[in-house]
Amino acid sequence: MPALKLLTLPPAVAESWDWQLEAACRDRDAALFFHPDNERGDARDDRIAAAKEVCRTCPVQAQCLRHALRTREPYGIWGGTTEDERRAARSRGRAGSLSL
Ligand code: SF4
Repeated sequence: MPALKLLTLPPAVAESWDWQLEAACRDRDAALFFHPDNERGDARDDRIAAAKEVCRTCPVQAQCLRHALRTREPYGIWGGTTEDERRAARSRGRAGSLSL
């Protein structure tokens, strides 16, 4: 008979994600925040501007940005920043300058 193993459940993650329940983008199309393949120029600029406008009204923008910086989110608009803005701030050692 195989030995009985006690299973250890992973820790609850609700605490680290519950801020998303308040997110202004919660009912928005995710395509606004994540660029489609081959998006360029004005289409990209317009989409980013529209996504940032949503972020400006978001009550959890600071938590969202903190999450994106902590987890190095590689894609999308998080906390009112683009992936390029977060990457550039990290490479300059100034990710804290993006904090709200
Ligand atoms: S800051 Fe922007 S991306 Fe983050 S939860 Fe709010 S609306 Fe969504």
